[in-house]
Amino acid sequence: MKVVTLRCANCGAPLSVKHRARFVACNFCDSQLEIHREKSATYSTTTDNTHKARTRKLEKSIERLQFTNELERLDQAWLMEQDQYMKTGDDGERSVASHGSALGTLVTGVGLVVFTLHSLAYRFPAPVTIIAGLVSLAVFASALHEMHKADRYKQARHDYERRRYDLLARMNRPKGG
Ligand SMILES: [Zn+2]
Repeated sequence: MKVVTLRCANCGAPLSVKHRARFVACNFCDSQLEIHREKSATYSTTTDNTHKARTRKLEKSIERLQFTNELERLDQAWLMEQDQYMKTGDDGERSVASHGSALGTLVTGVGLVVFTLHSLAYRFPAPVTIIAGLVSLAVFASALHEMHKADRYKQARHDYERRRYDLLARMNRPKGG
């Protein structure tokens, strides 16, 4: 196959085109070029489509930028939202609410109930029994609260991950087919 070498009329890049080709797109700048063959030389001129192609390219990169911004916003929002499911431990370390830590609290509550029953059985002074009973109720309430928080965290995380996945899927899908 015979190939002609010429330069892109728009950016000057060297192009190899088939001998009989009338139109070609520049690989470097996306210009749509018309090939002219004259006795003295073969050269290219840009066509009306060049502008359209360049606009399309620009639109594509703007769209990409918008997606990137949206993704960044989503991640930022999640980081902030995540904070309300965090708690600060005794060592000052932040951790997210989990069923595991709620279970730990629950075990403490059970221990306190055992102590309350024990103090009832062995006739400890009434205030001791009452306080132990109230504290175990409070601990159980706290365990429930923690469990609920862990559930909400799980749901929120799931929502965030799905939104992020959808966004990435939309980003990688070419617009308009
Ligand atoms: Zn070019």
